Amino acid sequence: MTPEQTPLPNQTINAAEQAQNGQPRQAEYRKLPAVDALLRQPAIALLAAEHGATAVTDAIRALLDAQRSAIAGGRTAPAVDAWPALVDAYITERNLPSLRPVINATGVIIHTNLGRAPLSEAARQAVQAITEPYSNLEYDLAAGARGSRYDHARDLLCELTGAEDAVVVNNCASALYLVLSVFCRDLEVIISRGQLVEIGGGFRIPDVLRQSGARLVEVGTTNRTHARDFADAITPETAALLRVHSSNFRQIGFVTTPELGELVTIARQSVAQNSGAHGAAALPIVIDDLGSGALLSTAPFGLQAEPTAQESIAAGADIVTFSGDKLLGGPQAGIIVGRAELIARVRRHPMMRALRVDKMTLAALEATLRSYQNGRALQEVPIWRMISASEAEMQARAAAWSTALQARGIQTQLRQAQSAIGGGSLPGETLPTYVLALSAEENLLPSGLVIAWAAKLRQQPTPVICRIQDQHLLFDPRTVLPAQEEALIQSIRNVYADLS
Ligand SMILES: *Cc1c(COP(=O)(O)O)cnc(C)c1O
Repeated sequence: MTPEQTPLPNQTINAAEQAQNGQPRQAEYRKLPAVDALLRQPAIALLAAEHGATAVTDAIRALLDAQRSAIAGGRTAPAVDAWPALVDAYITERNLPSLRPVINATGVIIHTNLGRAPLSEAARQAVQAITEPYSNLEYDLAAGARGSRYDHARDLLCELTGAEDAVVVNNCASALYLVLSVFCRDLEVIISRGQLVEIGGGFRIPDVLRQSGARLVEVGTTNRTHARDFADAITPETAALLRVHSSNFRQIGFVTTPELGELVTIARQSVAQNSGAHGAAALPIVIDDLGSGALLSTAPFGLQAEPTAQESIAAGADIVTFSGDKLLGGPQAGIIVGRAELIARVRRHPMMRALRVDKMTLAALEATLRSYQNGRALQEVPIWRMISASEAEMQARAAAWSTALQARGIQTQLRQAQSAIGGGSLPGETLPTYVLALSAEENLLPSGLVIAWAAKLRQQPTPVICRIQDQHLLFDPRTVLPAQEEALIQSIRNVYADLS
C-alpha cells in the first residue's frame, strides 16, 4: 500500500456528509493546510533539514493531492498535527530500495525469483573489499601493464574442473550463446530431440541456437536418441555435438540418451576422418551445457547425482558451460571451461565484450571457488549448507520457532515436509524437512485470512515469502538464513497482532 492509499485512523467515511450536497466537503477541503504553512511546522522543518526541502515539498504536494481525492471520496481531512507523521511515512516509503532483502521460507533452495543463491560470507566480504577502492581488475601487477579481467577466477576454475582454461561471462545463457556463435555460426549443431528444452523465462535452446547463427540438426526422438543417431548425422558442415542437461524436467520409462563419453568418441572419429576440413579448427567439438554445474556431488544427500563440471571435462567434453548461481552457489555468472585453444577463441570473440562480467561478480566468484578449493564448501557456501542440513536440524529449528510464537499465544504445528532444490536442478528430488505450519482457524481467525496473513508477511520490513498449502502457511527452516530467524519470528508476531 502506498502512503497515498493509507487511510488515516481519524478519516472516516461519513455517508450523511456525502449526501449533503458537497457543502461539508468544502469545509473539509478548507482544513487542508497550505504547503507553506506545513513547511513552517517545526517537525516538518526538521524533516526538510534531513531529507532536503525539495523532497519534503514534493511529499507534501503528493499528500495534499491524495487528501483531496480522499475528501472527494467522502473522507475527512487529517488533523493538522498528523501531518509530520504523514510526510515522514511518505518519504520513508519512497526511499525504500526497489531491490530488497527478503526471507525465503519456501524451502526452495535455489529460488530464481528470490535471487537464486545467497552468497557466502567470504563472497560478500570479497565484494565489499573490491568495490570501495580501485583494484587490479585489468592490470597485471607483476608486469606493471594492462592485464585481463578474465585471469582472476581462471586458475581456480581450471584446478576445480580439471579444464585447461576458463572464462566467465554474464550468465549461462550468454555462455552458451557465445560458444555457439564462436564455433557454430553458419555450421551445423547436432542435438537430441529430447534435449530441445525450454529452461525457463522463455529461454529455449532451439532459439538460442538459431540466434547464434548455428543450423540446428535434430536427431533421435523425444524419448530415445542413440549414439549412432549422432554418428549418422555428421557431415562436413558439422561444427558441434551439443548435449544440454535436461535440468528442469525428467523423462522416465522407455528413455535413452547417449553418454557424454560416446559423443566424444564419435566426434573424435569424425575429426580424424576430416582433419583440415575447417582450416585450423578440428571440428566437430563436443559442447556440454550443464546449466546447474555442480562442483560437489549431490548423491551423499539422498539426491540423484547431478552431473558435475569435472565429470564432463573428464569424459572429454571440449567445452562445458554452467551457471555461477545455481548449484555452484555463487554470483550470477556463466562459466565456460574447456580446451585451451578453444577458450582462447571464445576470449577473442567481439561478443565477449558485450557479455563481460564486472569486478563484483569476479570477486564473489573467486571467493566462492576458494571455499571449494579449501574443502570447506559444505560449511561455507549457503546453498550447500542448506542441502547438507539434516532433517533433525530442521526439526529443532522449527520447534524453536514454534516455542517463540506460542509464547505470544500463536498456535502452531510442526509438520514433516519436503524441501526442493529449485533453480532448474534435480526436478522432483526433495530433501525431508520439518516446517512450521500456521492456520487461521487454530488462531481463531476467519479461515480466509491465511491469504491476508501471507500478503501482510510480504509487506514486512524484510518481506517474508512462505508456502500456502491446504489453508496453512508453511515456513521451512532449510532456506531461512540463521541471521534472519529473529526477523521472521517478529514478522509473524506483528502480522498476528495486526489481524487478531
Ligand atoms: C539454467 C540453465 C541455463 C541458463 O543459465 P542462466 O545462468 O540462468 O543463464 C542454460 N542451460 C541449462 C541446461 C540450464 O539449466
